[in-house]
Amino acid sequence: MDITELIEENKKFARTVDLGKLKELAEKGQNPVATIISCSDSRVPVEVIFNQLSPGKLFVIRVAGNIIADSSVKGSIEYAVLHLKTPYLIVIGHSECGAIKAYLDGVNHGEIGKLIGKIELKNKELDKAVRENIDLQVKRVSEINGVQEALKSRSIEIYGMLYDLRTGILKCLSKNGLPCNETIR
Ligand SMILES: [Zn+2]
Repeated sequence: MDITELIEENKKFARTVDLGKLKELAEKGQNPVATIISCSDSRVPVEVIFNQLSPGKLFVIRVAGNIIADSSVKGSIEYAVLHLKTPYLIVIGHSECGAIKAYLDGVNHGEIGKLIGKIELKNKELDKAVRENIDLQVKRVSEINGVQEALKSRSIEIYGMLYDLRTGILKCLSKNGLPCNETIR
């Protein structure tokens, strides 16, 4: 696949998409059901794994290691929660995450070093560190002022989820700070 093909695929998309729906979204605004913070990894295509391929369904913020480190991520989350009023806030980490692996390997150079320098994990084993990082980022999400505000004024559910690259299955780890097996099935 090269750039010409990619652009061609966009033309195909524009020919087949429901233009009435696009116009409606453009004029009336978006009303996504969930705000999702996920790793940028190309193997975790959020809209694809939730089967939500049409525009306007999900508000997605993707950053390596699903790390909530600065106002570019926090501001995006706040916008979605406060202004779009998405009822669900989901942090998705995934198996075999390269960013968490880089953290465990002690990578400290360049911008990626700065990004993973924003996390501190106790677990040294990749699978456990990935889960610990999901919990850490869920905690950070919950501490954002706008999210705190939303939690006080209406019902909002915050989830931590783990995506398995090999099976395509998304597992719920936590809901509003409690383990998922105690909250949803
Ligand atoms: Zn990753």
